[in-house]
Amino acid sequence: NIRVRFAPSPTGPLHIGGVRTALFNYLFAKKNKGTFVLRIEDTDQNRYVSGAEDYITESLNWCNIPFDEGPGKEGKFGPYKQSERKHLYKQYADQLINSGDAYYAFDTADELNDLRKNHEAQGKTFIYNWHNRSKLNNSLSLSENETQLKIDSGQPYVIRFKCPTNETLHLKDEVRGDITIDTNVLDDKVLFKSDGMPTYHLANIVDDHLMEISHVIRGEEWLPSLALHELLYKSLGWQAPSFSHLPLILKPTGKGKLGKRDGITGGFPVFPLQWTDPKTNEVASGYREDGYLPEAVINMLAFLGWNPGTEQELFSLEQLINEFDLTRVNKAGAKFDPEKTKWFQQQHFQQANNSLHVEQLSKTLSEKNISTSYDLNEVVDLIKERAVFSKDLWDLSKFLFIAPSEYDEKATKKAWKQDTPDLMHELTRIINDIHDFNSENISNTIKNWIKSKEIGFGKIMMPLRIALVGSLQGPDIFRIIEIIDKKETLKRIEVIIE
Ligand code: GLU
Repeated sequence: NIRVRFAPSPTGPLHIGGVRTALFNYLFAKKNKGTFVLRIEDTDQNRYVSGAEDYITESLNWCNIPFDEGPGKEGKFGPYKQSERKHLYKQYADQLINSGDAYYAFDTADELNDLRKNHEAQGKTFIYNWHNRSKLNNSLSLSENETQLKIDSGQPYVIRFKCPTNETLHLKDEVRGDITIDTNVLDDKVLFKSDGMPTYHLANIVDDHLMEISHVIRGEEWLPSLALHELLYKSLGWQAPSFSHLPLILKPTGKGKLGKRDGITGGFPVFPLQWTDPKTNEVASGYREDGYLPEAVINMLAFLGWNPGTEQELFSLEQLINEFDLTRVNKAGAKFDPEKTKWFQQQHFQQANNSLHVEQLSKTLSEKNISTSYDLNEVVDLIKERAVFSKDLWDLSKFLFIAPSEYDEKATKKAWKQDTPDLMHELTRIINDIHDFNSENISNTIKNWIKSKEIGFGKIMMPLRIALVGSLQGPDIFRIIEIIDKKETLKRIEVIIE
């Protein structure tokens, strides 16, 4: 039974690193007919940011990678928010105390801070572990009685994991292969805090076990915790899931890890949805609001650390599910490329069903109170290949709906000659006489007429385009004429030569 989970902490908006983790979990689950769980890891009350949890679910839904079990979709392993599972964790911390794998520590935050500072002053780092634990204020240095007295008198304590000494751990990561760790370098991490809450490490392991998670797929930043997690599984007598750590996502320059700040200062979105920081009111742009298609974002994210081993780059979600394989996940950091993201957008925009574009365009038209008799499907066909975002559809087609009220000066200078008005006059008669008014006929008739006059094409085509479009830009002129139709074409030419 394949069960995977995405376990974000609601400490702010999910950036693309988080969405990438969710995506890889989702793809792995779907490929293997497994279950994708969302678990909210909110045991650190100090870092809780309101709105962040809704943001997570909304992001996953927008990306079309919804979870099967999670908050609001209760399954038999719920609740899925750690703050609602609070009562579950203490017994496991106690179990570790009883087996001798954990101990009470009474050191105050101030004492530990002083120790840290003293060490720093000597150019050393303070590590709470086998080195010094017997000299510090904990149940390993105190007698059983002294410990009990402190607990009974209500002295705050934490529970720390007692890391084994002089052991070599052989860990396995599905992406990185075998990893060897000397336990002497590990610290005695806090498992249970004085506020009665478990830390991430304990809650994460307990929940992965209780929720029967078979595969942990998460970001590389958790690789340093792998040794502790494996030790915890062993001490609790549980079988550990398999682990895969996804490579870091690097800034576009390749220097350093892509961060949330890059979404505010970088000039490109790194968030799926727009986010307003509740404290600073800073607004970070999101792919959704910037007009990206979720398909494009997903496709781009899939390639941050994975590749199919072929030349193919364009994938639908379904194709990704079919192709995805953890063995094709890279170790090396993946460079995030905003331009490539735009390329994926462009490609998916072209591939998207016309009805989506027609819908967008007709929405814009009604917002602008423009009624039209044009076949919007034809309009979309005409301009689509130049569009990257749906907002481009209006920009690229507005000349069809609104006749130019001014003409590009430089273009006019270039195209307008002394004999242009006469030629345009003659052209209106030619166009007026076309009966089967389709672009092919229009094209043939006008081209033949130009040939028969033995003049250059530009002499007609340039002023004609300026008359109809207002500039020398735009798609196929004969298709334009067909769409706006004879009457409107003639009107626009007459307006400019008046
Ligand atoms: N809560 C952790 C995070 O915010 C989860 C890490 C893990 O997947 O084990 O990323």
